Amino acid sequence: SNVLVDVKEVKKYFPIKGGVLKRTIGHLKAVDDVSFSIYEGETLGIVGESGSGKSTLGRVMLRLLDPTEGKIEFNGTDISHLSRRKLRLHRKDMQMVFQDPFASLNSKMSILELIEEPLIVQTNLSKEERKKKVIDIIEKVGLRAEDSLKYPHEFSGGQRQRISIARALITNPKFVICDEPVSALDVSIQAQVLNLMKDLQDELGLTYLFIAHDLSVVKHISDRVAVMYLGKIVEIADKQSLYENAMHPYTQALLSSIPVVKKHDEVAPTKERMRLTGDLPSPADPPSGCTFRTRCPFAFEQCAREKPPLIEKEKGHYIACHLHA
Ligand code: SF4
Ligand code: MG
Repeated sequence: SNVLVDVKEVKKYFPIKGGVLKRTIGHLKAVDDVSFSIYEGETLGIVGESGSGKSTLGRVMLRLLDPTEGKIEFNGTDISHLSRRKLRLHRKDMQMVFQDPFASLNSKMSILELIEEPLIVQTNLSKEERKKKVIDIIEKVGLRAEDSLKYPHEFSGGQRQRISIARALITNPKFVICDEPVSALDVSIQAQVLNLMKDLQDELGLTYLFIAHDLSVVKHISDRVAVMYLGKIVEIADKQSLYENAMHPYTQALLSSIPVVKKHDEVAPTKERMRLTGDLPSPADPPSGCTFRTRCPFAFEQCAREKPPLIEKEKGHYIACHLHA
């Protein structure tokens, strides 16, 4: 199928200021040379520990942040250098669902006003047309039209996430970035929201980038999964190859920390349990060569010297590790 979003050699470095003169003394390499494509209608999961750069990557892809280097093509248009004015024409096609949607939103707005707002900013629809669309999307996400005059605090966490999904979908986007949309919810509610997102995807023909910090959340919703470590993609593959034949030691470690539930709800440890030791190194001072080497049980001499390139090991299965060169 067609490529909808093409990310090419994207970097996002944040300057680190220091000293009395507050000069730039270094760079935090939040996203460090990342390339991948997202195909129309698919869900690409992106997984990594907090600090791996996945949220920054999502924000750069929507131009909520400007890339330091590289290109983002959306539907064939390079959006990475568009002016704010030209970008506005594309805004409605690309939306984001946040983990904590109401932290930054005005709690004095009714949900009708909250969901309507992107239509006011990003389209030229009349008030009547906007109202009709809001009621329609409220019902699509499983809330009631009569709830539209209530305020966010009158809803449960799961319902609030439905409101934020409605706000993201109100402009009929093609592409939606979901940044840990269920991480703050109870497990039982997580499944409901994930199922809703899957149903909406099928109904509306959406393409998703789904960001999460562990592999279990993205397993059911993703078609392909990318694993990020310190600003780089270390492995990317279709779901089945990734979960059954993970090749990168980091992906293997993440997978072996997922408890496998057996019959009668008994939790069984996976085959070989591999534990990650040590903390994620600082993205301001990443290790030389392979940035995973300080935590990798298989690290050898070459790993400190050379950065492993991301290579296609099997069809559609890419990995960055010297063991597989
Ligand atoms: Fe481990 Fe070396 Fe592979 Fe990095 S390149 S994951 S350190 S074996
Ligand atoms: Mg994050």
